[in-house]
Amino acid sequence: MKLILASNNLNKLREVREILEGTGIEVVSQREAGCDFEVEETGTTYEENARLKAMAVVRATGLPAVADDSGLEINAMDGAPGIYSARYGGQFDTPYCHDGVFGLIQSNIGDDPDRGARYCCAAVCCFPDGRELRAFATTEGEIAREMRGEGGFGYDPIFLLPDGRTMAEHTEEEKNAISHRGRAFRELARQLTEMKNESLEKDYVNE
Ligand code: IMP
Repeated sequence: MKLILASNNLNKLREVREILEGTGIEVVSQREAGCDFEVEETGTTYEENARLKAMAVVRATGLPAVADDSGLEINAMDGAPGIYSARYGGQFDTPYCHDGVFGLIQSNIGDDPDRGARYCCAAVCCFPDGRELRAFATTEGEIAREMRGEGGFGYDPIFLLPDGRTMAEHTEEEKNAISHRGRAFRELARQLTEMKNESLEKDYVNE
């Protein structure tokens, strides 16, 4: 089964490919599918933004597409940057959270003892006839006091897990086992397999 990932983020593409390895779902990138555009994320929730991205690719290709919208929510910042994570602090989707972004987060948290945070991921799979599958998952952690590690991407060097390591200090396999994206996409894969087994979507799930 082939599924187009509606994203130009190569880090997400790499992770989703690895997460879905062995499920029988082959992930094709948006670029490989001939979609050379960036969708404006005008939604007010992760799910709305994921749907906007997936539907843009469905409309352009006539094929099923999946998208992930994700972000980091920090308790001491009332859940910010949340759906605005990719743009926070005049970002970066260059590999990592840099000093400027981290400094801004540190000053916003200030001396609040609650450094709790969570990664969120909504994964939405859209079909040309309007049907869709969706999954949402989170991973709890806290904001580290210094940046550590070289794995992952984005905020991973400042996202501290209960084992005392930042997400960037985990291997890709370890990250995918516990990450918001790993959990959401495994749930989506489960739903896709169920759908396929029920033979309801034979026209849309490409063999
Ligand atoms: P979007 O889903 O394209 O809006 O981008 C989500 C943004 O959230 C990314 O650009 C990162 O800044 C952040 N983010 C989402 N998932 C992760 C992750 O697994 N690690 C680190 N940062 C992430």
